[in-house]
Amino acid sequence: MAFSEKVLILRTGRFKEYDLWVRFLSPTRGILTGFAFGGCRSRRRFCGCLDSLNLVLFTINAGSRKKYLTLEEGTLINGFSTLKTQRDNLGIAANCIRFVQQICLEGDDSSAVYSLMLDSLLLLDNKVRVPSFFPLLFKAKATFMHGYEPLFNSCSRCGLLLSKIERPSFLYDNGQVVCSGCVRNSDQGFKARQKSLMFLDRLRLTRPKDWIAWNPEQEVLQDCFRIVDAYVQYHLE
Ligand SMILES: [Zn+2]
Repeated sequence: MAFSEKVLILRTGRFKEYDLWVRFLSPTRGILTGFAFGGCRSRRRFCGCLDSLNLVLFTINAGSRKKYLTLEEGTLINGFSTLKTQRDNLGIAANCIRFVQQICLEGDDSSAVYSLMLDSLLLLDNKVRVPSFFPLLFKAKATFMHGYEPLFNSCSRCGLLLSKIERPSFLYDNGQVVCSGCVRNSDQGFKARQKSLMFLDRLRLTRPKDWIAWNPEQEVLQDCFRIVDAYVQYHLE
């Protein structure tokens, strides 16, 4: 059974004289590996599109026994050529891609992470200067979109709005916020600044292009790092 999809190539490698394996992010099936037999020399079927960080329309054959995927042919949609000449932005892109490889597994519904990844690459390909905290926001957003959306806007036990909670705690096991009156000794969480949780709540509703103009305080970024790190470790590692 063959299907066609626009996928993002993450890595490639040679395994015989002219054959390549290709690891890619699919918009619907998570991260997959396919084999391009004769991929190193077939310009007719692949026209030089088999490189990492290329967006490619592949015709993919899953075969009747589904043992492995064969890449039949590919057409380059976007090679992000500007990004590939800019060291800083390329480093940021590599950082985001590493994270996607960490959280996205084969067979996952990857549509949300895929569109976030493409949004980010299009932005980074645009010669813009993105802030150094971009990968942190990307990781938070990707985690939230990939099935672990926290609830920041109110205490999950009494309903008090976050804007009225003076010393909120973030519970990383269930992604909820509780006020100081509702926190229990058995909770798995820690105190975070109200403004940091508001910042993360705002992040949920924005896209990468919105982040360029942001200038959060250092302590907000520190909180975000701690929250995202604890949340990812608990749920995804
Ligand atoms: Zn409460």
